[in-house]
Amino acid sequence: VLIGALNLGQASPCLEAFATGRGAATGIFETIDEKPTIDSMSENGYKLDKVKGEIEFHNVTFYYPSRPEVKILDNLNMVIKSGETTAFVGPSGAGKSTAVQLIQRFYDPSEGMVTLDGHDIRSLNIRWLRSQIGIVEQEPVLFATTIAENIRYGRDEATMEDIIKAAREANAYNFIMDLPQQFDTNVGKGGNQMSGGQKQRIAIARALVRNPKILLLDMATSALDNESEAIVHETLHKARLNRTAISVTHRLSTIKTADVIIGFEHGRAVERGTHEELLERKGVYFTLVTLQSQGDKTLNETAVKITEN
Ligand code: ADP
Ligand code: MG
Repeated sequence: VLIGALNLGQASPCLEAFATGRGAATGIFETIDEKPTIDSMSENGYKLDKVKGEIEFHNVTFYYPSRPEVKILDNLNMVIKSGETTAFVGPSGAGKSTAVQLIQRFYDPSEGMVTLDGHDIRSLNIRWLRSQIGIVEQEPVLFATTIAENIRYGRDEATMEDIIKAAREANAYNFIMDLPQQFDTNVGKGGNQMSGGQKQRIAIARALVRNPKILLLDMATSALDNESEAIVHETLHKARLNRTAISVTHRLSTIKTADVIIGFEHGRAVERGTHEELLERKGVYFTLVTLQSQGDKTLNETAVKITEN
């Protein structure tokens, strides 16, 4: 039973972070001393029959339990529609990843609410909710087993057919079939037998094997190599049909093609529009893009911090 704690939705926050691959990106130690505020095993709450995937933040204010003195989200309001890609953009620390965590109910809002198709997500069955969500993060956590098992991870009932379909959607199928042992290839410890781009594709296939109604890609912790970025970009574009796709990235080429860009600043959504619309607005997005074109190819976090001061 203890080993079972590594199953999705059964763990303490720390193990959960590990199991969902969040540990590598957010630092497992940050979450270790936090009390589990949400019972992820709860059988309470209902499941929706048909999910459209529209997410809305209604006046969401949020403080991390470990830092009750710092307001992270400040009366955040936004609508994220399904069938489109939405990019969260803004300086480091603006609250983008926190918003992504609230959607998964790793935390609940201190005030306000997050809804899925108009239902407060606190009223939904938590394991059901998480089964609707696929998440891909900066540093995918791969286990020293086969590619097939890595893709299946967290969805035991996935058939080989499901795995192949997800691999195709993630543009992973061709490279896998070129390997001598194909889907039976062992990825090595932490995936060390795979390139960065290959790991990313496997992680995306893992997210897609659940056919999630909501796809979350949080890549903002540092710059991705060009190959990985291109993969994320392509996947998002294909994957947005019939689902809600949210990406947090600093790469302008990806952001530009989003259907909607939401600009974050100090825990609020301060602007919303397309690339062209937001450039005209000359707000936070314009500032980030201008900085980027002056410097390297990513929306450089350090540069952003410097201009804020
Ligand atoms: P972004 O993704 O826009 O860079 P984050 O949502 O990661 O911003 O962070 C917003 C703020 O919340 C930052 O000040 C960060 O230090 C803080 N923060 C993030 N995660 C935690 C945590 N687990 N506990 C306490 N504070 C956190
Ligand atoms: Mg972030």
